[in-house]
Amino acid sequence: MCLSHAVLDDDYRQYQQALLGAGLLVSSGVPGVYGLSGLFEGIVEAFERYVTRMGQHLTPEVIRFPPLLSRETYLRTDHIETFPDLMGSVHSFVGNEGDHLRLVQKKENGEAWTENLEPTDVMLVPAACYPLYPAAANTTLPEEGRVVDLRAFVFRHEPSPDPARMQTFRQREYVTLGTAEQALAHRDYWLKRGEELLGALGLDVKPVIANDPFFGRGGRVMAATQKEQALKYELVAPIASTEKLTAISSSNCHLDHFGREFNIKTPDGQFAHTACIGFGLERITLALLKKHGFDPATWPSETRSLLEI
Ligand code: ZN
Repeated sequence: MCLSHAVLDDDYRQYQQALLGAGLLVSSGVPGVYGLSGLFEGIVEAFERYVTRMGQHLTPEVIRFPPLLSRETYLRTDHIETFPDLMGSVHSFVGNEGDHLRLVQKKENGEAWTENLEPTDVMLVPAACYPLYPAAANTTLPEEGRVVDLRAFVFRHEPSPDPARMQTFRQREYVTLGTAEQALAHRDYWLKRGEELLGALGLDVKPVIANDPFFGRGGRVMAATQKEQALKYELVAPIASTEKLTAISSSNCHLDHFGREFNIKTPDGQFAHTACIGFGLERITLALLKKHGFDPATWPSETRSLLEI
């Protein structure tokens, strides 16, 4: 581990301890999996209401998907090719009473027991908008396209001492499905709007062109292409470290990737383009706590009035 990593790790652990000590995060014993206090959750809820107000004029459809995705759909999203190390697969016990006895015996003997589990029909959702595309499969969009408001718990297998890098967290998204122009306009609109609405809360955010952490050598090529085509922007802010900023919001253009895979068409028969803006609810809450302190009663009056807290 190089020195800068070690320093960064210290920053992470220090801020993690401060949050645990204040009772804002509740340890589960697993890195990156926390309970959240009432105060923390209250900020999440206030921010969500704020985002709802900021998107009201778009009259989005509201859909809430569970944190599970059909395994069959999962396989159609390219996730297994691009982020195999982040996936979450749900397994369960399938067997008779004899198999069950052997399973329990293995557990009691301290032996490996998970090899007896079978994959179920579901995977954990890796990004809040993934369940939307199969739900829109084989449809033709209206002239004006669709704008959908989503929120879901997502899972990423990346245990870390950084309190902002949780293994499961909520994303609030506005997604559009439409023509290439509509998708790009949505992305550009929300990139600017997102910066404004987070900035208005007193957060020091800035947009950066980003890339996803695609897996392996092939992934590095994909990441370079994604960056070159400016398909992903992140709004970054300080959380645990003031040197290494954390993405608290990201906007993505998927071109016609999902439109093609799920056969979603525009009225003129083209494959739909899709774009989304996602707000990381726990990360935004952490950024607010970092910026304004652990007691919302002492936050600047403008932040409090915008959040109506
Ligand atoms: Zn998305």
